[in-house]
Amino acid sequence: MSFSSRETKKKHKNNDIRWFFRLYNRKLYRKACEYLENNKFDDIVFDGDSISAVVHGKHDDYVAYIGVDGSKCGCPASRGRGYVCYHLIALAIFAVENEFFAAKQVIKFLGLDKLGGIRMGD
Ligand SMILES: [Zn+2]
Repeated sequence: MSFSSRETKKKHKNNDIRWFFRLYNRKLYRKACEYLENNKFDDIVFDGDSISAVVHGKHDDYVAYIGVDGSKCGCPASRGRGYVCYHLIALAIFAVENEFFAAKQVIKFLGLDKLGGIRMGD
């Protein structure tokens, strides 16, 4: 009984990240989900403070990075602008669902923790 309720809680925690991004930007969230279903991350590097991976765009491959010192993606939408593209959202979901980071952490790393009106539970 206690085991199953703990499982439910864990599941709920992992769903928080998807819930957050759906609220943040539904269009980007959908693209990120599509990416997660149809593509993969290569050369995943995790060092405790950051996760990076090669993502596959339509025409090119890019490196997406999320860490304590910020986040960046090499795709045209994000490069040099600090824009949170769907690659970063997909990587964030991947990182949380594979327990590299907690939802709260990646949201902070992406600089989205100061958004008004969206609060993350713990
Ligand atoms: Zn990108």
